Amino acid sequence: MALSPKARPYLAIAAVVLVIAGVLVAKLPGAPEPRPVADPSATTPAVVDARGADGAGDPYYPQDGNSGYDVREYDISVSYDPATRRLDGKALVTAVATDDLGRFNLDLYQLAVSEVAVGDRRAEFRQEGEHELVVTPAEPLRAGREFTVAVTYGGEPTLFEDRALGRSGWQVSASGGAFAAGQPHSATTWFPANDTPRDKAAFKLAARVPDGWSVVSNGVEGATTHADGWSTYRWQAAKPMATYLTTIAIDRWSVDRSALADGTPVVDAYAPGAERAREHQRRLPEILDFLAGRFGPYPFQAAGGIFLADDIGFSLETQTRPVYAGWADLETLVHENAHQWFGDSVSLRSWADICLNECFASYAQWLWAEAKDGENLDDRYRAEVARTEKSGGYWKRPLYDMGRGNEFRGVYDKGQLAVHALRRQIGDDAFDRALRTWLEQHRDGNAAWPEFEAHVEQVSGQDLDGFFAAWFRGAERPSDEHLWPGSLRR
Ligand SMILES: [Zn+2]
Repeated sequence: MALSPKARPYLAIAAVVLVIAGVLVAKLPGAPEPRPVADPSATTPAVVDARGADGAGDPYYPQDGNSGYDVREYDISVSYDPATRRLDGKALVTAVATDDLGRFNLDLYQLAVSEVAVGDRRAEFRQEGEHELVVTPAEPLRAGREFTVAVTYGGEPTLFEDRALGRSGWQVSASGGAFAAGQPHSATTWFPANDTPRDKAAFKLAARVPDGWSVVSNGVEGATTHADGWSTYRWQAAKPMATYLTTIAIDRWSVDRSALADGTPVVDAYAPGAERAREHQRRLPEILDFLAGRFGPYPFQAAGGIFLADDIGFSLETQTRPVYAGWADLETLVHENAHQWFGDSVSLRSWADICLNECFASYAQWLWAEAKDGENLDDRYRAEVARTEKSGGYWKRPLYDMGRGNEFRGVYDKGQLAVHALRRQIGDDAFDRALRTWLEQHRDGNAAWPEFEAHVEQVSGQDLDGFFAAWFRGAERPSDEHLWPGSLRR
C-alpha cells in the first residue's frame, strides 16, 4: 500500500490521537467475543461439537479469518448493477478440513446470506457478530477431507471505516462504478472468505454487469459473454493469494492489452479521467524487469494495473494488478509492483510483520532512484537522518510489532532508512543474496519478521541482534554504531 500524499501529514496527527485514545483502540471491534457454552446435556458424538475457531489468530485482528480448514480455491460469481448498487453473489469455496468440524465459520460483512450448501447438501447457517457466517454441515467433516461450501448472498456492499487505517473494502466511484480494495481487510465486503493472509488460495471470478460497464480483477483474463443486456467478465488467478489482495473493479474501462518479453499477459485498465496514467504505466515492463533483476523472477502469470480516477487515500498492491488512486505517480508504480514480491508472493503471517511488505516496497523506490537517476543513496540517507532532528516523533515508531492501528506509521520512511542501513551493515553482496533467497524460500507462502532476522544473520554470517533491536524493534534513534554502518560511517 502507498498512502495519498495528502494523507501523509495526517498520519502523525492520527498517531497522536491514537496514543491519547489508546483505551478506545482496545475497544474497537475485534476484541474476542465470549464463546458459546456447550450444552452439558448434549450426547451427540464429539465431532459434532468440534468447531473451527472464529478467528485465525492474528493478535491485532483476532476475529479476522477462522480456523479448522484451509481454503484451496474461491470461485466467485457476482452480479452487480451500478444503478441500484445491489450485488448478488454465489461463492463456491473449496477447502480441506484441518480439524474434525461439526461447524465452521466464514467471514462476510454486511451482506445477507440466503442459502448455504456443503457438498451437495443444504447446511444450516447463521450470521452473527460483525462478520461471522457460522455454517453447520448436515454431516460433520473429518480432518483431512476436501469439501466445498456454496454460499448464496446479496445486498448493498459497504466499506469498513477504521479511524486509524481509513476506508477499505467496497467503494462506489465518482463515475458510478465500484471497486473493492484495502488492507488489512476488504474481501468480505463482497464475498465470503476465510479472511486472513495466512490462508492463501487460488481465485476465480465471473462478474456480470449491465452492458456499457466492464469488470477488471486479478490474474488472467478469460472469455467475456453477453446475454440479455448484461455482460459477464471472467478472471482467474491460479497462484495462492491472500484475501486482502483480491480486487474487483467495475467501470467504463479503457483497456490496453499487451505482453511482457516472456509472454506474460498484461492488462491495464483506465477509468474515464485516469488516462494520463498511461504515461507512467507504459514503463511497466521496464519496472518489472528492474525489480526481477534485484529480487528474482516475477512471481506471477499476469501483470498490469487498474487506474481509478478517484483520489482515494491509498494505492494497493492487489495481486498481479495493483489498484492505483488518481494521484499515483511513477514511484507509486515501482512501490506497488515491488509488493508483488514483498507482500503478495511472500505474504506476512501477522499484521505485526507489515515491514516485510512496506519497508521493502518503499526501499525499492530508493533502488529505482539509484539505478535510474544515479541518486547517491548514502547522501539521501544522511539528509533524511538530518531531517529527523526536527521531528521528535520520527524514531518513536517501531517497525516490527508496532501495535494495532500503527502498522503504517513508520514503515514508509523510517523503513527505507532501516533497510538501507541493513544493506550497508552486511554489504551489497549479502544484501542481494539475502533478499533473493528469502523470496525464493517463501515463494507463494507466508513468513514472519523474526524469521527474516534469522535468515539475514545466516546469509551474512553476522550477529545482528543489536542491529535489528535498534532499527526494527526499538522506539528511539539507533546508536551511532547502528545508524552509520559501512560506507555511512563518518
Ligand atoms: Zn506499500
